[in-house]
Amino acid sequence: MGNVGAKDVPVLLSPEGLRLDGRRLDELRPIRIEAGTLHQADGSAFVEWGQNKVMAAVYGPREVHPRHLQQNHKAVIQCKYNMAAFAVDERKRPGLDRRSQEISKVIAEAFESVVFAEEFPRTSIDVYIEVLQANAGTRCAGLVAASVALADAGIPMVDLVPAVAVGKVAGQICLDLKKEEDNFGEADLPMALVPQSGRLVLLQMEGHMTEEELGRSLDLGVKGCREIYDRMKAALRERYALTPVAGGAA
Ligand code: UDP
Repeated sequence: MGNVGAKDVPVLLSPEGLRLDGRRLDELRPIRIEAGTLHQADGSAFVEWGQNKVMAAVYGPREVHPRHLQQNHKAVIQCKYNMAAFAVDERKRPGLDRRSQEISKVIAEAFESVVFAEEFPRTSIDVYIEVLQANAGTRCAGLVAASVALADAGIPMVDLVPAVAVGKVAGQICLDLKKEEDNFGEADLPMALVPQSGRLVLLQMEGHMTEEELGRSLDLGVKGCREIYDRMKAALRERYALTPVAGGAA
């Protein structure tokens, strides 16, 4: 939500109610998910979502580094989100910054509530997320990629964790914000869902909206997450050449 002069603000919604890229308010950007992209990792996934390109790799359960993080009764989940210097228009300073530390932390916390960590005491499950191209919503794309990579690594979990950002743009609640909508919109609300239980395991918000708008945003985000969930399951089925079970269960 940058502070810019009115002349710089693009028209985010057309008179017909269509967005900059022609999407309706409740429409996702095109998303492609590939499971098992990397050979060296125990599990991996690549996600191309709008103009975002994100790779995730999972290692473990394996020995804990640094050693003092080891927990006797469960695995620790360590997550490293990194955005490449070439991922955005204005070159980003490479390396760890507060934003990537925050994103790594909230993603690790989301997985802590779904992974059966007690099954692997004194080990680490290491999740690496590399953003190669960014256009808003990269923490959600990273979470989706990492979730498929965890499943690809055979880590036992309650469920996959789909994620999407909802926001308020030109006064309207919109699904899956792109960069201009994120920059010039009124609010941005990334969320991640455990579809089986309907529980949210990540919910952040930047900007302002009313309580009623927040309620509608959550409903729209849950609907978006369920669409993404289907794509995640399809990617894993494709990887393992599985056919859908009759009745729709994966
Ligand atoms: N961004 C950027 N430079 C930065 C950080 C972010 O250009 O150093 C862009 C990038 O496109 C990112 C978007 O701003 O996707 C929104 O960033 P935010 O922190 O809201 O996280 P995200 O929406 O990617 O989860």
